[in-house]
Amino acid sequence: MPNSAVASRQEAASPQSMLLDALSRVLTDAAVLWTAEDTAPYECDGLVAHRQVPVAVVLPETAGQVAEVLRICHRLGVPVVPRGAGTSLSGGAKPLANGLVLSMARFKQILDVDPHSRTATVQPGVRNLVVSEAAARHGLYYAPDPSSQIACTIGGNIGENAGGVHCLKYGLTLHNVSSVRGLTMRGEPVEFGSLAPDAPGFDLLPLVIGSEGMLAVVTEVCLKLVPKPQLARVIMASFDDVGQGGNAVAEVIAAGIIPAGLEMMDKAATIAVEQYVNAGYDLQAQAILLCESDGTPEEVAEEIERMTQVLRRCGATRIQVSASEEERLRFWSGRKNAFPAAGRISPDYYCMDGTVPRKHIGTLLGRIRQMESRYELRCINVFHAGDGNMHPLILFNGADAREWHRAEQFGTDILEVCVELGGTVTGEHGVGVEKLDVMCTQFTAPEREMFFRVKAAFDPERLLNPDKAIPTLARCAEYGRQRVCGGLLPHPDLPRF
Ligand SMILES: Cc1cc2nc3c(=O)[nH]c(=O)nc-3n(C[C@H](O)[C@H](O)[C@H](O)COP(=O)(O)OP(=O)(O)OC[C@H]3O[C@@H](n4cnc5c(N)ncnc54)[C@H](O)[C@@H]3O)c2cc1C
Repeated sequence: MPNSAVASRQEAASPQSMLLDALSRVLTDAAVLWTAEDTAPYECDGLVAHRQVPVAVVLPETAGQVAEVLRICHRLGVPVVPRGAGTSLSGGAKPLANGLVLSMARFKQILDVDPHSRTATVQPGVRNLVVSEAAARHGLYYAPDPSSQIACTIGGNIGENAGGVHCLKYGLTLHNVSSVRGLTMRGEPVEFGSLAPDAPGFDLLPLVIGSEGMLAVVTEVCLKLVPKPQLARVIMASFDDVGQGGNAVAEVIAAGIIPAGLEMMDKAATIAVEQYVNAGYDLQAQAILLCESDGTPEEVAEEIERMTQVLRRCGATRIQVSASEEERLRFWSGRKNAFPAAGRISPDYYCMDGTVPRKHIGTLLGRIRQMESRYELRCINVFHAGDGNMHPLILFNGADAREWHRAEQFGTDILEVCVELGGTVTGEHGVGVEKLDVMCTQFTAPEREMFFRVKAAFDPERLLNPDKAIPTLARCAEYGRQRVCGGLLPHPDLPRF
């Protein structure tokens, strides 16, 4: 380490210098970032209004180094926040003021693609899309396809149990992972799941997937691959009424069809998207559905016919089936670019993520319309309709702190309605710091207590990504008090955009 670095570190506060000195014994200088300039890019994830500069950021390259880092932090009592690409929208990778960010960005290797077992063994920093690119030469791909797949990592997908357009038919991250290797906060190796179908012992794999980096640091993952379908075609169906569109989603599934993708957008969303990517959407429709079928040409033809019948019966005013692969990709380009399209029509947008039973999609959309008036903010809606996973995008101006505050309250109210309708406060983006309060509505005190006990079984000192995903009893009491009083919730951070 250069003398200047040692000298300036010694000038730093004592706990920080103790940590940095210990880290410098196991990592190179370039793998430890600690100046304000170097740590600034890590101060938030996709939930940009919530920011916190960490004590330091480390970029290890081997599992051995990760284990050493964890042991050091455990010994010094320093909290650790694991991080992939930092695209989480719920603040799961938000740093802690007294903590270390453990970036897994250098774990980028695809260790093996095995066409016989149809698996890919990868390091956690591998980007989602890269897995499918590597598997393509064997006619295989990795099915979970978040819209952020060009940037987000497999480690982050495990952390959030990420979903995507194709998850209705092929399952979420949870259903597409065979095994996970990781390290506990004490630096001890752990392995969950196996290639064999029914490993002995408790099945902890589903517990770790979606655990938001709170139970173990993932260092290696074995993913399941699926054969690329021979053909895929997509129906674009228009509706004069969003409720009818929502009903059609429920009817398609009730007819025993599991489309390869079943997405819905309201008129405000299609207008925003059309101005951005010109996907060919029907701008007269109050809502459009995109229903994809994949398989052999015969299977696709039969399923497209069945879905067309159901959609017509449910009141579709216009039905267009992609006539070529180019047209299919054009239809999807609109849906996949909906978030950036929202960014073009508003200074900022707040992406919510909740689920409702499919039959209540129309009801929720109606309630959101009423909230738009109450909060004097616009909301456009895109969603994984087949899963009932809604993504209302609340448009606001972050330069106005009061507007951001209203947007947050608007989002909280949407999630409260999701629970009221029998849904959940998160579909695929996780809880992080964003949805801590509404977790109080979703779960009872004994259930939340159980979550804490599970966390304690892995991390008794509560050092691995603490204060995320599970609200404390005190926080829930305060949240309940606020809601009874009907006031806006106090915000822990000042918004900064
Ligand atoms: C434009 C846009 C579109 C999106 N679309 C979708 C979508 O369609 N579907 C969807 O599900 N999500 C979507 N997301 C959200 C986000 O991309 C996903 O949650 C993704 O899985 C996060 O991956 P990441 O690598 O960025 O993880 P990060 O944001 O870095 O981390 C996410 C969580 O995982 C933990 N973590 C990361 N790596 C590890 C590791 N190695 N070990 C243990 N814990 C770890 C972190 O601590 C954190 O809690 C979208 C985000 C954006 C910005």
